[in-house]
Amino acid sequence: MRRRWRGLRVDITPNLDHTLLPMLEKQMPIQEKLSQLPSVDECLKSSHGQNWLESWYRKTVIRSIREVIDSRRKEILNGATPDLSIDTIAGDIEKAIRKHSAYKLRPLINATGVVIHTNLGRSILSDRAIENVTATAGSYSNLEYEIPKGKRGKRYSHIKDIIKELTGAEDAIVVNNNAAAVLICLDTFAKGKEVIVSRGELVEIGGSFRVPDVMKSGGAILREVGTTNKTHLSDYENAVCGSTGLLLKVHQSNYKVIGFTEDIPVERLAKLGREFKIPVMDDLGSGCLINLEKFGIYGEPTVQEVIRQGADIVTFSGDKLLGGPQAGIIVGKEKLIQKIQKNPMLRAMRIDKMTFAALEATFMQYLDEEKAVRNIPTLRMLTEPQEVIRKRAKRILTPLNKAVAGHAALELLADQSRAGGGSLPETGFPTYAVSVKPLNISVNALEKKLRLGNPPVIARIKEDVLLIDARTVQDREIKELVNCVISAFS
Ligand SMILES: *Cc1c(COP(=O)(O)O)cnc(C)c1O
Repeated sequence: MRRRWRGLRVDITPNLDHTLLPMLEKQMPIQEKLSQLPSVDECLKSSHGQNWLESWYRKTVIRSIREVIDSRRKEILNGATPDLSIDTIAGDIEKAIRKHSAYKLRPLINATGVVIHTNLGRSILSDRAIENVTATAGSYSNLEYEIPKGKRGKRYSHIKDIIKELTGAEDAIVVNNNAAAVLICLDTFAKGKEVIVSRGELVEIGGSFRVPDVMKSGGAILREVGTTNKTHLSDYENAVCGSTGLLLKVHQSNYKVIGFTEDIPVERLAKLGREFKIPVMDDLGSGCLINLEKFGIYGEPTVQEVIRQGADIVTFSGDKLLGGPQAGIIVGKEKLIQKIQKNPMLRAMRIDKMTFAALEATFMQYLDEEKAVRNIPTLRMLTEPQEVIRKRAKRILTPLNKAVAGHAALELLADQSRAGGGSLPETGFPTYAVSVKPLNISVNALEKKLRLGNPPVIARIKEDVLLIDARTVQDREIKELVNCVISAFS
């Protein structure tokens, strides 16, 4: 930039004429001021610069110095006379360095009450899973190595036994996410063949996953049967033909058809499949391993149940109700899983060692249901007694009541949380929230301030109040959350 300025000087000088002179005179102090701007090199060589290079990345430091010098240059050109010593601009440079060094993907506080919030990263991992990721990530591992034999092993073998034990399935395999699981199943069992699906199950699960489109990508031909609200066994029966590759059942996930409805239980579909020797697949989506009815949560079949009822292939997500990392889990008949294992597509969908570590640790915890419900955050949040949530909400409310008294009307409010992630769409989860009604700013302005804070707090607006739902706030976040709300008002 200095060079550019020198260039500018050269440009002006030969054109000197009388009309330009007064302007140039005014510019002289500007030029003088500009010449006092430190160079990037001078900044780097200063003691500040040396400290920055120690603690931060070189390119980030240089970019930040340039930015601050440039902005000072602009100020000078606009007629200001800022102090230009390195000591005085160091603060701004450091601020810029910090800004550019922050990760783009960062933690935030979920105060929405939506437990499996796809936009906010779906499930948060349990301590056990995090510990296992940490242990595996920084170390070589037997990812594809059989230690007893001292030779190459299979990536998928580690996780198989625990999934089989928990689900009762003959075999299991895992891929990157459930969309990949569905895709590879279609590709393996129904490429160029017809897949029979009920019209009531042709769902879209957030953005890009739509059953008819996935079907196309999987090279399968969609054969819709029945109607939106009712599909009978005879609809499936009549559609079966020589080119049928698969009978597919898709969990309706994020919506519910109510009223005059009928769908075919997987048990009867499985029987039909056996009669015609056509595999029956159930895309469960969420994939729960614990019967949630004892917590008053109805309508989510467990993977074990669906396997017991005879589904040949079941697919589900790792980061929905299971509460683990992003993954797609495929369980079912051994000979079918073996076919998937041989599909070259599998290589493009294989999961990473960190995911394996998190997934294995998550599954292990299900060997003790009580511990799973206590320690897997997604399950804990969904089953938490109202009294516990109310106490947490109070712990948020009490310090806020003192700190922002003149700025907002606060109260404890009973409300409903959601499971999210396309699970249990019709179930409201009674919760407690801190309701914040700002007195001097709009509720939208408050929501935005919290969202742009550090860490960001994502809350929800209900009519003219902001709700901080205590269900999805972690105990360790309470202090930070309270400070964020206080800052938003200051
Ligand atoms: C969520 C969902 C998927 C997609 O799973 P991802 O893990 O997000 O890839 C597929 N099918 C159903 C029924 C779902 O609910």
